[in-house]
Amino acid sequence: MPHEHSDTPWIERTLASPAVRAGYLSLVAHVVVCLVLALLALDARREAPIKPLLLRFGAEQAAGDEPLVDIDLGEPLPAADAPAPDPAVDVAPPQAPADDVPLIAIAPPDIPAPSPADGLPVRPDPTGTPARPAAVRLGAAPAVGGRPSPAIAPAVTGTAAFAARRGAARGAAARARGGSAASEAAVDAGLAWLALHQAADGSWQFDLSGCRCDGACRDPGTLTGSTASTALALLPFLGAGSTHLDGRHQQTVSRGVYYLVSRMQPTPRGGDFCEGTMYGHGVTTLALAEALGMTGDEMLVPYLRDAVRFIETAQDPHGGGWRYLPGQAGDITVSAWQIAALKSASLAGMEVPSPTIEAARRFLDRVQSQNGAAYGYRTPAAKPCTSAIGLLCRMYTGWGSTHEPLQRGVTNLAKPGPSPTNVYQNFYLAQALLQLDHPVWPRWNARNRDQLVASQARFGHETGSWFFADHDTAPGGRLAHTALAVLTLEVYYRLLPIYREEAVDGGF
Ligand SMILES: [Zn+2]
Repeated sequence: MPHEHSDTPWIERTLASPAVRAGYLSLVAHVVVCLVLALLALDARREAPIKPLLLRFGAEQAAGDEPLVDIDLGEPLPAADAPAPDPAVDVAPPQAPADDVPLIAIAPPDIPAPSPADGLPVRPDPTGTPARPAAVRLGAAPAVGGRPSPAIAPAVTGTAAFAARRGAARGAAARARGGSAASEAAVDAGLAWLALHQAADGSWQFDLSGCRCDGACRDPGTLTGSTASTALALLPFLGAGSTHLDGRHQQTVSRGVYYLVSRMQPTPRGGDFCEGTMYGHGVTTLALAEALGMTGDEMLVPYLRDAVRFIETAQDPHGGGWRYLPGQAGDITVSAWQIAALKSASLAGMEVPSPTIEAARRFLDRVQSQNGAAYGYRTPAAKPCTSAIGLLCRMYTGWGSTHEPLQRGVTNLAKPGPSPTNVYQNFYLAQALLQLDHPVWPRWNARNRDQLVASQARFGHETGSWFFADHDTAPGGRLAHTALAVLTLEVYYRLLPIYREEAVDGGF
């Protein structure tokens, strides 16, 4: 059909030619290759800055698992971000040296270093992804305001003051100072309950709102202010060796710490974490100080520095204490949280102004009786609970362990044994007795420890939590009681070492 060729439109003839077909194939292939490369490049750019730390846990290595565990902080709240707790006192097998300080490796080298614009202070990413930390040499004051060098491999380099909380040291300290296998199991169960009751935004609430509990646990608290509740719930995790960078509950702690720093209100008088009262500010400062002291994460330095400054400026200029609102005449409970926070910040390498400590001593002088062996709430009218708090404050602010009123006061309080319901009083007295290495400690502790273990909830959603019939602390509800009970059972390893070398170096 000779005329067929001329009937076919020129465009079809052109398209049908072998040379054009080869050109098409080549074009399509190049477009596909370009698209794939573009997608890969986009993917790499989106992933790289939020690539989280890679944690390596000793136990997982030993089991032959994939050694690098990718921690995805964007996941929804897990029921418990940890393997089932081991009820034995040996939290970490002593034969696994890697458990002492879990190895932390930064993300692979192909991930770009932070851009020069990413200088400190690093504010938390609203998505909850933590900024990359840098190591701080501790022992000396951290380089406040300095910028982390991307060349420094992040490492968990906390001060020696907090070393007993981690790994095999925790088990050894628990054994040596009066813990038991049952008390360690109770700590783990308490932490599991706390982890389960963290709200989706990383906070904890005294009324247990925002978490998965949905009314399944009785005795919610009535206090408001999410910094106080969040920081109080974080302290037991820090006390048992988990931080926002490492440990069994790393994800839970990370969410909590980033929630807290996101709540700071900058003011001309420092960084305000009150959310209502100075109680919230003191507990938050304490939690951030412990997190810095345990990790050396320089990201926390500006927040802690601002928080310490707020404590300084919120102090009652006349009486030297702290109360609900900045500048009010002090009470002993709010003051105690500020003093503990300052002590812990000092141990973490922060500078704490000595006039603030001087004035705090004057406040203690004003509420003391019996020559300093007993303390009242806002006046010298003493009660056992306020006396326990006051005596521990005296230890933080410079009284030596052999000081007669201190010994006399602690001995008087310990005589009747631990209170059956006042978890707050027992929390403070346990610290004072153990710090003093008091002769009554083994007996007092055994009773307090065993009554705490026996009173832990063992059924339903409440499993692992506590609630005591204590009028004074009831507004904090099950959340506050559980945190205080766990903290009390952690006393063997979480205690700030007031009378050891690290504390002397720490300043006041
Ligand atoms: Zn619940």
